Amino acid sequence: MDEMLKVVNVNKIYKINKYESFQALHNISVAFKSGELVSIVGESGSGKSTLMNLIGGLDSDFTGNIIVGDQDLSKLSDKELDRYRKDKVGFVFQSFNLIPHLSILDNVTLALTLSNVGEKEKVERATNILKLVGLESQIKKKPTQLSGGQKQRVAIARALINNPDIIIADEPTGALDTTTTMQILKILKEIADSGKLVIMVTHSEKVASISSRVVEISDGRIVSDKINENYKKEKAKIFVQKEASDKKNKPLKQNLSYLSAIKLAFHNMWASKTKNILMAFGVAIGIGSLLLMLCFSSGITDYINNTMKSYSDPTIVTISKQSESLTDIPLFDAEGTEIEEIKNGINDYLAKNGYDYVVTDDNLAPGFNVMTMFGPISAYLEYDKNNDSEITEDERISIYYLYTTPPYYTETNLVEGEMATSSGGIMLTPAVYNFFGEESPIGKKVDFFVDINLQGFDQEIPINRVEITGIVDTSVMSGFPILYIDYNFFMSYYANYATPQPSTYYIQTESEKISSAINRYISTLDGYTGSIEESLANMFQSMGSTIGNSLVILSVISLVVSAIMILVVMYMSVSERTKEIGVLKSIGARKKDIHRIFSSESFLVGLLSGVCGLIVAGFLILIIYFILISLVGIAPLSFKWYYIFIALGVSVVISILSGLYPASKAARLDPVESLRRE
Ligand code: ADP
Ligand code: MG
Repeated sequence: MDEMLKVVNVNKIYKINKYESFQALHNISVAFKSGELVSIVGESGSGKSTLMNLIGGLDSDFTGNIIVGDQDLSKLSDKELDRYRKDKVGFVFQSFNLIPHLSILDNVTLALTLSNVGEKEKVERATNILKLVGLESQIKKKPTQLSGGQKQRVAIARALINNPDIIIADEPTGALDTTTTMQILKILKEIADSGKLVIMVTHSEKVASISSRVVEISDGRIVSDKINENYKKEKAKIFVQKEASDKKNKPLKQNLSYLSAIKLAFHNMWASKTKNILMAFGVAIGIGSLLLMLCFSSGITDYINNTMKSYSDPTIVTISKQSESLTDIPLFDAEGTEIEEIKNGINDYLAKNGYDYVVTDDNLAPGFNVMTMFGPISAYLEYDKNNDSEITEDERISIYYLYTTPPYYTETNLVEGEMATSSGGIMLTPAVYNFFGEESPIGKKVDFFVDINLQGFDQEIPINRVEITGIVDTSVMSGFPILYIDYNFFMSYYANYATPQPSTYYIQTESEKISSAINRYISTLDGYTGSIEESLANMFQSMGSTIGNSLVILSVISLVVSAIMILVVMYMSVSERTKEIGVLKSIGARKKDIHRIFSSESFLVGLLSGVCGLIVAGFLILIIYFILISLVGIAPLSFKWYYIFIALGVSVVISILSGLYPASKAARLDPVESLRRE
């Protein structure tokens, strides 16, 4: 028979460091035929493995020629070498090198998976080969559940699956006892006898004596090459597989499909699930805070929009001074020069734009609308519930907002009772129902205190025995205890201590059209806002953006931490699986395939983390919702369905990006070195 493998003048030099190198093979020339069972013998360190790696296409850094059929390995590109390893050679190693987290079947079909062979054909071919090595009943087991001899038979099946011409076995029986050694040897002989070239490295004289030819290497040189005249070729089981029909017709795709890559990645992740779940929860914190931030900022926006809508009378324009911060309450001057200027501005604007309306002292009224939750003004009610003329904590309620109404004010949101007027009375929001318990607050007389500490003025203004006349429900605002009182009534008390300085002016217009024209004009003024709602909105927006910004920082930090964590874990995973990567390369995996397997793993980690993040965020949102509701009565959190996709998307993108470096490191690993790793 023809010589199917020719090694011609091959030299191999290992670089040890910058200055030194070591020549492991010296001018090796040897040729092999199909059907030979060759034993390579020689002392440890003589260069046997080096030669096997060159013949197997794992190492292409040599001089000379290795000719297999019509191919010269020294002239092949990396891609062609991958193809050569996949189709032409099968490797069997001393330490079996099965992939522990894959089943026997999956280990054997791995090379087919790398070629994107269909599931049915894969199983069929693998079962046939496993039958030939006597393992058809073990296909569902994991490698750790098999004995050494069985493992080696799996490895042989894996080497045979692509129907290669050459089987390279580097000390295949080195880790086996005598009986199993003979079984493995018998299989290797059958493979050779069915027409393939089997080259095995061995230390055992007995093994060598059974082979058809023994080549001895010493210090990188062939020192003897003997044909065994007594070798008997037997008619054995046929290890030549029937080629699948489609393999002949259309060339096999070289691709590991994304689906298979994900399947492989899933198996691997499953093998170290605790690690992966812990990592996913770490990442989930970042994703969760991102979600929380989204819900919060859209919650604030929604809240503001709703507040705007609750604006009760569209013919009333409210002019307020814009506040710089939550604790700042800017007031108009007592003399009214400021508002006079604004009034003239409005009138000019209206006239210029053809509106038949003039702001006069009759339709302009001052107001005192202040936030009393934080800052220089606070307000509270006292109600002696048990009539013991002593006030305890539960007989006092804080007012969050003091709202004075103009003379022409009609409250459209009155749900109970009557309007408060200039002759007295206050109205409250439904938030006070709890305070009064079972009884209706209407008609009750309370003591109202406003504590003002502003611009050198420090005074508590008491309004005793004032009657609650009505309850006002402005939907979104109703969670807050808000007090409505007539401006003139309030100022009749205030004026005892100081000259009133309004925080607000009201303009009663004739139509909504005029109101919006005035509002348009006011919005061009610096330092003023057109309505209470708008100033409230500004206030909440600033509050919201403070919280929002800290959440953005928190989520960015935790996402960066997550990314680093994924990088570290994936990186460690690459080092742990160096050998596996070597095995994958030996069966023809390309850089691209390895990259794809590791990227799929980061993809899965991302997906898992995204899902965990959703769960974490869900709990956080619920908790925050209930805390906010019980503290301030509102919870500006809105959840939108597409946030789920944002969370999953961000999580997956971050994971894939952080996994890129480890994946490319895995792809670049040198197969010979990886396989040598213990
Ligand atoms: P064998 O398989 O016959 O025991 P090897 O082929 O593994 O021997 O090694 C042959 C010689 O090459 C040994 O001396 C070994 O130390 C050396 N060698 C193998 N790999 C490397 C390497 N990557 N760098 C430097 N020297 C190496
Ligand atoms: Mg060796």
